[in-house]
Amino acid sequence: MSQRMQQGQPMIIMGEDAQRVKDRDAQEYNIQAARAVAEAVRSTLGPKGMDKMLVDSMGDVTITNDGVTILQEMDIDNPTAEMIVEVAETQEDEAGDGTTTAVAIAGELLKNAEDLLDQEIHPTAVIKGFHLASQEARAAVDEIADSVEPDDTELLQKVAETSMTGKSSELNKELLAQLIVETVEAVTVEADDGSYVVDLANANIETQTGRSTAESELLNGAVVDKDPVHDDMPTSFDEANILLLNEPIEVEEADVDTQVNIESPDQLQQFLDQEEQQLKQKVEQIVDAGADVVFCQKGIDDLAQHYLAKEGILAVRRAKKSDIAFLRDVVGGNVVSDLDSLSSSDLGYGSVSRDDEDELFYVEGLGEEAHGVTLLLRGSTDHVVDEIERGVEDALDVVSTTVSDGRVVAGGGAIEVEVARRLRSYAGSVGGREQLAVEAFADALELVPRVLAENAGLDSIDTLVRLREAHEDDEVRTGLNVFSGDLEDTFEAGVVEPAHAKEQALASATEAANLVLKIDDIIAAGDLSTSGDGDEEGGAPAGGMGGMGGMGGAM
Ligand code: ADP
Ligand code: MG
Repeated sequence: MSQRMQQGQPMIIMGEDAQRVKDRDAQEYNIQAARAVAEAVRSTLGPKGMDKMLVDSMGDVTITNDGVTILQEMDIDNPTAEMIVEVAETQEDEAGDGTTTAVAIAGELLKNAEDLLDQEIHPTAVIKGFHLASQEARAAVDEIADSVEPDDTELLQKVAETSMTGKSSELNKELLAQLIVETVEAVTVEADDGSYVVDLANANIETQTGRSTAESELLNGAVVDKDPVHDDMPTSFDEANILLLNEPIEVEEADVDTQVNIESPDQLQQFLDQEEQQLKQKVEQIVDAGADVVFCQKGIDDLAQHYLAKEGILAVRRAKKSDIAFLRDVVGGNVVSDLDSLSSSDLGYGSVSRDDEDELFYVEGLGEEAHGVTLLLRGSTDHVVDEIERGVEDALDVVSTTVSDGRVVAGGGAIEVEVARRLRSYAGSVGGREQLAVEAFADALELVPRVLAENAGLDSIDTLVRLREAHEDDEVRTGLNVFSGDLEDTFEAGVVEPAHAKEQALASATEAANLVLKIDDIIAAGDLSTSGDGDEEGGAPAGGMGGMGGMGGAM
């Protein structure tokens, strides 16, 4: 590679290790890198998609088919490939789901763009065509979409279930979907302008291993996974004044370099008395304010634990910062960081109860402004609970986006085939070389039903042909049921997705593809082929993207 470049390009302005790739070579290099990423996640698309096992450098294992998780763990070391990973991250942030779809479409757009470039079509024409197609496609999604109201629990549950299909959370998807929709409904408020705002900050997810997922539940209030600091403390209160403390209940440390010179036993006793006095005073401040319960983010000294227990106060130490913040929402009051200024108005108000089996505290707010719910997810092992949590988090995002956006579409490839059909008839009005790019864009969308079929072990070409025919007959919602292999109205069958996620996937996939196509010159400070030993496209995730190194040889 470098030999060839040295003939044509002046290298004087660059350092010795620098490399430069231009024009078609640059495009090819970038397109290959981006496609490799897309290929790596494709096989996970849809309910019948496979899982990936990711092993990080510490040997920790994650088993998942969540696009963004896979890409984040892959340790990708290639700037172009990283741009594609960003597509997934944007999609995750904006919609909570559809990451695999977005990345797969980006990869397919680039694959089709490559064919156009091979036909000597200038990249700017492709970029323009893709841009037009993306706008038109999003307008089509909006036209096709149905509206959904926040109280349409049944439909929202289908949205949640669709988002969980194919993940571990699927086994209990009915129960989980119900809990997810209840959670979203509990934190949804109607704004002055009649729109709905979902504040997921008021919904906490807590995971617990041991019992089965079927025993997951939605609780009003917070869950604190901690033990009392002393066995003699009470563990439940119908009504309690609750102190949220961000200061240790410990002896204030003298400066490290301060020396305490103790010359006689009396002095030692005096010194110890002083410490005891300090702790006693802190506990007294808590008692005087009227607190029954203390959730402390920092440590609590043994002696202070003893005093607190004697006063009949329940205390918990080293609570998570996020738990303290959430508790504040639930019970009200302030998070106190200096006991000297503590007053009773800083205390929150709520009930506390203990689940002895799980060793959890349930805290429910009793104040007027009490808000906040906790979704307690259970599962037999850490791996199970982690993957369920990922699935549920995504579904929560998906349902909340759906509620605030208010639009849904039919999944299973139905929306993609319909949008592709409309794009093809729009292409004619564009004309010129851009028309070819619009058509290539339509083809790229059909990757979704093709891969869904492929991953389900069905004939992808046959499926696509039949789907196109159905849509020619105005069956707008006909998609693939991957379980039966039949074509049907997927909306009726319960495969329902938020329109917003589809629009977002189209927008970010197009943006990434166009970004890659716009580059005609790569100037790298170091060696472009990072490892140089790769040979497989989208190689094993655990091995990083060593496969990218193979790109150098391709040129
Ligand atoms: P993503 O990361 O893009 O969300 P998924 O693996 O979740 O990827 O797959 C989503 C795709 O699977 C969507 O196109 C969705 O319509 C489709 N899908 C979900 N459930 C079904 C189903 N029961 N039958 C057919 N397709 C489905
Ligand atoms: Mg999904």
